[in-house]
Amino acid sequence: MIFKGKKQTKEPEEGKEKKETTQSTEAKEVKHEEIERCVECGKILKDKTYEPYCKQCDEKLDKQFDSIEDNILIYRELLDSEIKILEKFDDEDIKDLFKKIYEKFSKEEGGLKEESVVVLNKFKNSFGLNELEMGLARLPDIKEIKKNKPLDECPECSKKIKEDFNLCPYCGYRLKDNF
Ligand SMILES: [Zn+2]
Ligand SMILES: [Zn+2]
Repeated sequence: MIFKGKKQTKEPEEGKEKKETTQSTEAKEVKHEEIERCVECGKILKDKTYEPYCKQCDEKLDKQFDSIEDNILIYRELLDSEIKILEKFDDEDIKDLFKKIYEKFSKEEGGLKEESVVVLNKFKNSFGLNELEMGLARLPDIKEIKKNKPLDECPECSKKIKEDFNLCPYCGYRLKDNF
């Protein structure tokens, strides 16, 4: 697994170079700082093989990556906080993860489910991915599942209710099937 920032040899983009020359002294200092200290926790790096993270943070991120994958596969959920974590990873890792999830979802009985498409679209749009460029079939443009929208009013008496209510406190209407 490759984390973002591990490639320290990356050439500066053309055009940008000129603009950055005035800040070159500052930039050098920042780069130096990155190599010395873990970007995540700020600890001084003793084992440089884990740059730009320390061994501990590197392993922690690896675990987080795996649990995000599980969260998507099992719960069809990709939280904004998880997107932030994924942003620390190399683009190739992100593409591989997307592809892996897409293919797993496609192999499910009955094919690609609506809720799978929703989470795949969120993933795709968060990272500017293109499924066609990855050799995958175009995803239907479903961003949310409308029928599962939480209720904010009682369908029986139309009074305002909270979405976690099981019964309407005004008329007693059963709001959840499993209650
Ligand atoms: Zn660290
Ligand atoms: Zn009611």
